[in-house]
Amino acid sequence: MPTIDSHRVGLSMLVLSAMQPNVLILGGTTEARELATALSGRPFATTVSLAGRTAAPAAQAAPVRVGGFGGAAGLADYLRSNKIDFLIDATHPYAEVISANAALAAAQTCTPLLGLRRPPWQAVDGDFWVEVAGSEGAVRALGRSPRRVFLAVGRQELSPFCSAPQHHYFIRSVDPVDPPLDVPHATYILARGPFTEPADRALLESNSINAIVAKNSGGDATYSKITAARSLGIPVFMFKRPPVPDCPSVATVGEAVDWLYQAAGLEVPRGV
Ligand code: NAP
Repeated sequence: MPTIDSHRVGLSMLVLSAMQPNVLILGGTTEARELATALSGRPFATTVSLAGRTAAPAAQAAPVRVGGFGGAAGLADYLRSNKIDFLIDATHPYAEVISANAALAAAQTCTPLLGLRRPPWQAVDGDFWVEVAGSEGAVRALGRSPRRVFLAVGRQELSPFCSAPQHHYFIRSVDPVDPPLDVPHATYILARGPFTEPADRALLESNSINAIVAKNSGGDATYSKITAARSLGIPVFMFKRPPVPDCPSVATVGEAVDWLYQAAGLEVPRGV
């Protein structure tokens, strides 16, 4: 469990002691949603922040604000004007910009910051992973020969695949890809996780997919494509994870709740 830097917490501890500490969760992930749920009914006033990428985001157990802050400076302004006592960066492991901004804004405003970070998946026997540097790296690694490629990387990472129109792409996303990819062969699959291994295996088999491009997202919700690939002997071109800012971090929602109690100087109730 990471400890709290008493200098950084300093004055705000005195201010928040008389009221419910304000917690801002930078979200867009299952963990962020679960943390908001875990904090409901506890002595914290929680707000969840979403980027606004998804048209119909999943419901949250706390008030939600939507949209960018305007860089690190905008986030720092938000933290000050909303008197945020604790900032939780529970964004996706590949949401590199907002995590960097969170670290900068937290430092500027002396707001204690915790990263709730999903550990990456580890390759096991039977996995055939090729680590690639983002979409451009995946395009290079896929090579010239036509393949049937399952792209499970998010809509914002798709455009580089237009430079490799020889492949047939199968693109799974929560919202439609608009505009569609400028390639002759693309099949769009609208779906929201969590997914299951039998369903993903059926998807891979029925479409004769022979390559997968994915992010090492960690967690359970999208791991099924990895186990399905393993069982079918399909290679996975896995995006290298971006670096994370240096700040205290935990891997589970329970640890994050625990950290908040400790940071706020509150007694941790039994069962947390
Ligand atoms: P990003 O590249 O790190 O951030 C780009 C900009 O989007 C940020 O500078 C910020 O705008 C805004 N932003 C990002 N997350 C935000 C949040 N939670 N609340 C308010 N503004 C936010 O982010 P991304 O990779 O596009 O991810 C966007 C969202 O989707 C995140 O919430 C992330 O957790 C979620 N998500 C991402 C992935 C992924 O693979 N990247 C996968 C699943 C879910 P300003 O600079 O204007 O503040």
